[in-house]
Amino acid sequence: VDLITSLSEMRRWRNEQAETVGLVPTMGYLHEGHTSLIRQARSECSRVVVTLFVNPTQFGPSEDFATYPRDMARDRQLAADAGADLMFAPATEDVYPPGFATYVEVGPPASRWEGERRPGHFRGVATVVTKLFTMTRPNRAYFGEKDYQQLQVVRRLSADLNLGVDVVACPTVRESDGLALSSRNVYLTPEERPRAVGLYRGLQAAQAALSEGERDARRLERCIAEEIAARGLTLDYAAVVDPISLEPLDRVDRPARALVTARIGRVRLIDNAPLTPG
Ligand code: AMP
Repeated sequence: VDLITSLSEMRRWRNEQAETVGLVPTMGYLHEGHTSLIRQARSECSRVVVTLFVNPTQFGPSEDFATYPRDMARDRQLAADAGADLMFAPATEDVYPPGFATYVEVGPPASRWEGERRPGHFRGVATVVTKLFTMTRPNRAYFGEKDYQQLQVVRRLSADLNLGVDVVACPTVRESDGLALSSRNVYLTPEERPRAVGLYRGLQAAQAALSEGERDARRLERCIAEEIAARGLTLDYAAVVDPISLEPLDRVDRPARALVTARIGRVRLIDNAPLTPG
């Protein structure tokens, strides 16, 4: 896979392409979740660009920006193996030039849940995604359902700003016990790792209760909370929401989404799943 680290070179490369460009934005430390996005892009686009940028503006002051795991050589190989044509790893000064003062602020789908707990997070995500779209000019961009609220925020901004990018949702890739793959899973200790499955088990329990006829959103949320508590994790939120607006539902009479976030030691885990009434 070729590597470009300068923005002017990126522009030149893009202007030479006449074909369908698929973009896979990542913060690196690639795993099977990322490579599944790259493979899907490969199967649908003639050119595939993977961006690698640990975006400072989406981290809060007490979050792990400085220690976020990084391994560009390995990432480049994994991206190549998954079928990427290009890795774009821009310098921070190119993405945020001196005097930078323009941010993209997305309304409602960004307001609740992660938006509330991580002030400024979605502003950072929306800003960098807009900038990555304008720097690489993709036809399609691939995002994981793993970060479900982020996916809805990106759909909203692409439509609202007429960016002309088709946002493609890709299914969450999981470990064999159901834990969603995440670059931050490396922070889990051997003692914590098996307990981290509580989020997935909670989501499964909610779908099982729904299939057995439970329609009350608060009771479905309690099913999730119980699986979290059973493993000694600290629940941040469990929410049954509308799959597009992410507004909370009272009853599940149509397809919905369950969102869950919990802490284990110093790691904050996030997951979600569809809820489909029988
Ligand atoms: P990140 O590097 O964490 O910013 O993630 C880059 C992209 O990979 C985002 O669109 C994520 O939603 C996606 N992603 C991360 N983990 C997974 C996973 N386990 N399954 C599917 N997609 C994922």
